[in-house]
Amino acid sequence: MASQMISSVFSRALVSSTRSTLSQGRACQLRRVVCRYSTTAAAEEPITPPVKVKYTQLLINGKFVDSASGKKFKTNDPRTGNVIAEVAEGDVEDINRAVAAARKAFDEGPWPKMTAYQRSQILLKFADLLDQHTDEIAALETWDNGKPYEQAAKIELPMCARIMRYYAGWADKIHGLTMPADGPHHVQTLHEPIGVAGQIIPWNFPLLMFVWKIGPALACGNSVVMKTAEQTPLTALYAAKLLHEAGLPDGVLNVVSGYGPTAGAALASHMDVDKLAFTGSTETGKLVLEMAAKSNLKSVTLELGGKSPFIVCKDADIDKAVELAHFALFFNQGQCCCAGSRTYVHESVYNEFVEKAKARAIKRVVGDPFRKDIEQGPQIDSEQFEKVMQYIRSGIESGAKLETGGEQLGSKGFYIQPTVFSNVNEDMLIAKDEIFGPVQSILKFKDLGEVVRRANASPYGLAAGVFTQDIDTANTLARALRVGTVWVNCFDVFDAGIPFGGYKMSGQGREKGIYSLMNYLQVKAVVTPLKDPAWL
Ligand code: ADP
Repeated sequence: MASQMISSVFSRALVSSTRSTLSQGRACQLRRVVCRYSTTAAAEEPITPPVKVKYTQLLINGKFVDSASGKKFKTNDPRTGNVIAEVAEGDVEDINRAVAAARKAFDEGPWPKMTAYQRSQILLKFADLLDQHTDEIAALETWDNGKPYEQAAKIELPMCARIMRYYAGWADKIHGLTMPADGPHHVQTLHEPIGVAGQIIPWNFPLLMFVWKIGPALACGNSVVMKTAEQTPLTALYAAKLLHEAGLPDGVLNVVSGYGPTAGAALASHMDVDKLAFTGSTETGKLVLEMAAKSNLKSVTLELGGKSPFIVCKDADIDKAVELAHFALFFNQGQCCCAGSRTYVHESVYNEFVEKAKARAIKRVVGDPFRKDIEQGPQIDSEQFEKVMQYIRSGIESGAKLETGGEQLGSKGFYIQPTVFSNVNEDMLIAKDEIFGPVQSILKFKDLGEVVRRANASPYGLAAGVFTQDIDTANTLARALRVGTVWVNCFDVFDAGIPFGGYKMSGQGREKGIYSLMNYLQVKAVVTPLKDPAWL
């Protein structure tokens, strides 16, 4: 299929070589680049998505309702920029309504008072419903986000159901401890839900981020107000409806679509929200942390940006490393916070690696994400598209060598050619900033001490990849790298039980796994004097 998709091989001098911002030398460099990608799908009429949009209102207190203002916003198809649907636009008043419903469900409602086993049964039923509706939800996800349908249907949706089952399994295994104490006292801890959790999620994995957030919150007995990303409101509404069909009581999960500075800020600064969980950019993470501190000091977990190093040692299996470095960067259109966006390659294998990385990028199948075997769809929207294109121009201007790509693909929507730069160094913006697009930057290193220093010299610390066949090198690098996840001879392995989160400015706290539960629990110490210690 891949060969079919690239059968419409074309050669063209990149038109942007005339861009006024480029120096003469750089323009010449651009003209020499010959690209071979599948343009067919990007150029053809987009495939009609095999799904209808059913839910566009806010979900508050178990009912779909219009926004208090009656306002709506448009959600667009990244393949064309055309409007998919108009969605109710939540704002301060809607967040107030949603928080009031969540508060009532927590303080008076059945959720925290149900047995943990009953809660787990509802979460399990929800996972089954996700499985039953995979095709429809995956199609909505692809339509709203632009990610390949096969990826949504075969990887992400099953992962969502798996994660919900993981948390359903935890619901009746959350309990405190007893501990010895001086004085004659009986001491125990109770692990209690915090209360109302406010959750703000991004657009790159709309449904996956939804379940990463609601899974631990609901398993621990909290109620939730979720603010989805304005670019991708559709699948969370669909899934929330299924969760109610599974038996979730009204008010326990409320979903408010809307913009960050309005609905998002209202949630982060709400006095009746007890906990805030945020995934998004580091800049916005700082803002919501400040809002939480200035309002009611709600506890905050943050999963933020990254600039993850991917280190290829001289003894690595080069073909495997090339393929995984390609996957680490280009997966999900490069729109991953943990993307391996600084590819460090040992000098002894650098030239071979660059040639192979370039050949692999040229082979990448880009096009309508509803087509089978498509590897890359469009970027999410025009804003992200422009941002990525600016970084590409900046890479060229700063002297990196453009090996392939660098241009828009087709003329509709937000497709970008898979782009590879070599001769990159850390002074260049493309090696410092989170690009969030299909742009691979390959840097050269000489020895391990040097590459560790360079890899760690970043304000981010989300993840890293290490490629070597030497166990001692792998273990030493894994300890030396100041990041939340080190993948050794693999990348982007996400399992429900594996904690994920960042060091430094990549975040605070961990999601998934046992570590995520503590984000949604209060620990209460209960101390009781013992009656007559004499006969103990
Ligand atoms: P990105 O640049 O990838 O869109 P953002 O950090 O801007 O990342 O967005 C992530 C989430 O944060 C989205 O749901 C967005 O609406 C929300 N958001 C953006 N700005 C704010 C803000 N000022 N307050 C609260 N939430 C915000």
